[in-house]
Amino acid sequence: MKENRLAASPAAVFIFGLLATITFVGVLHLVGGVALGDLYAPVLTGTFATAGSSSAAVWASWRANFTSADLARVEHDARHDQLTGLSNRIALFEQLEKATEQARVNETTLGVLFLDLDRFKVINDSMGHDAGDQLLRIVANRLQASVRNSDVLARFGGDEFVIICHDLLSEGSVISVAQQILRAFEEPVLLFGRAFTASTSIGIAIAKPGDPRRAEDLVRDADAAMYKAKRSRSGYAVFSEAQRLQVIDRLDIEQDLVKAIDHDEFVVYYQPLVNVRKRRLYGFEALVRWKHPTRGLMGPGQFLPVAEETGLMAVVGEKVLREACAQAAVWNHLSPDAQFAKMSINIAEQQLLDVNFPSLVAEILDWSGLPAEQLQLEILENVVVDHLDGLSVLRELRALGVDLAIDDFGTGQSSLSYVKQFDMVSALKIDKAFIDEMGSGSANQAIIEAIVAMAKALDLRVVAEGVETKKQVNQLLDFGVEIMQGYLFNMPVGADKIDPDSWFKSRFASSEGLSAVTVTQVFSEAAALPRPPRRG
Ligand code: C2E
Ligand code: MG
Ligand code: MG
Repeated sequence: MKENRLAASPAAVFIFGLLATITFVGVLHLVGGVALGDLYAPVLTGTFATAGSSSAAVWASWRANFTSADLARVEHDARHDQLTGLSNRIALFEQLEKATEQARVNETTLGVLFLDLDRFKVINDSMGHDAGDQLLRIVANRLQASVRNSDVLARFGGDEFVIICHDLLSEGSVISVAQQILRAFEEPVLLFGRAFTASTSIGIAIAKPGDPRRAEDLVRDADAAMYKAKRSRSGYAVFSEAQRLQVIDRLDIEQDLVKAIDHDEFVVYYQPLVNVRKRRLYGFEALVRWKHPTRGLMGPGQFLPVAEETGLMAVVGEKVLREACAQAAVWNHLSPDAQFAKMSINIAEQQLLDVNFPSLVAEILDWSGLPAEQLQLEILENVVVDHLDGLSVLRELRALGVDLAIDDFGTGQSSLSYVKQFDMVSALKIDKAFIDEMGSGSANQAIIEAIVAMAKALDLRVVAEGVETKKQVNQLLDFGVEIMQGYLFNMPVGADKIDPDSWFKSRFASSEGLSAVTVTQVFSEAAALPRPPRRG
């Protein structure tokens, strides 16, 4: 504002300059006796000087105005998110650096909350970006109302928000902020006339006095805790020392994974699926393992999430597809009965999202010589629900003649109604969680019966996963489930442990009156196989 007052008006400069020139020329003509014709040069010089100074005045005035109002606006925009008006990532880190420094000096506790909306992409994709933007604004308002004035709330990017809580009295106070936020999400959101409930997952990093972590470390740790909260669907999770070690471990695994791909360290294990009523082998599920040079045999839970996050899942997935299809083709060659068995292979989200995936499957079938009808692809229920737009890939796969199964069925937070959209799905695999406790009159029993009834109506096969006891076999048979998979029948094993002569010819296939219990015995007698661990 100060510069504004000092800056002369360009019009005033011009008029003043012109008057000065006329007066000067007039004085020269009248008092000095100079002829008018000789006065062209001073007139021109005066006019140019006047125009020059008024241009300089225009520039000075523009600069004066810019440095006050516009500069403030540019500065504000550089530190704020345009959509929500909240602090942006730059401002967040500036304030977090200050806050960590202050907490260190004052020996106070600092909390960082990292929020990520659940299934935001689905809303954006299905209802449009305007609805997505609207939701982000509503969420920003609700968050603002849930935090203290002294807390910093920032939009980190996309559907991610970060909150800095200063001067915490205890760990409990940051947890109550998280709980308050989760309560704020319970109220339905109205988007273009449609009400629905949004939800979020919150990761918390707490820095107690003496904590050496810097601003970016705290955000990274809160982000890692957020992933934990999302995976466990627990709403919020606090970053712990154990998780810190996990993060380091994860980084090691990430580095080793790249080498594992080059060194071909993945192996495929096979677990039988049994049609207990027909008393014959139904097929195998291919389950990947990693023969790690120092850690030993690793299960998929230990490395597939890392492969997914680092974009390596497609490579690992292709290896499994190739190996399992080739193995099934070899068994077909060794035993004509093997041709009735299905090879069921898990497909990850990243694979399903690749538009070229159906042609890869076609190429692998062609390469291995496995008939398409012997291949079944398993897709997790959550993945199917989150990518209803990926249906065209499913349709193309179905058109190849391969079967599609929904894996871990019943664990998704979806309503069953979506199933009717999947005319291309052939089977549902009921998750182990339902099989574990299905005592008579239990909720699980009711769920299994409902799934079987629905599957019958939709002409889908049902497979029960994780069957461990004879009692479960008999209960499942009563509910109308015929195909089962679980440690009771066999653990997943390497292909070298499967003897095609005894497994596919299945002596029990023709033995009428064989009980489910003897099916188990036949399987264990068929080859000297590792037995499932004894329970209790
Ligand atoms: P899933 O597809 O639901 O596979 C069944 C899992 O349950 C397997 O675990 C299997 O070993 C285990 N299981 C089978 N019967 C029993 C039982 O009676 N009791 C118990 N407690 N567990 C049983 P695994 O091999 O650790 O695989 C875990 C998950 O990793 C699989 O769950 C699947 O989602 C994923 N996975 C495995 N291999 C692949 C793969 O090649 N690609 C992809 N995308 N995912 C895979
Ligand atoms: Mg599976
Ligand atoms: Mg499963």
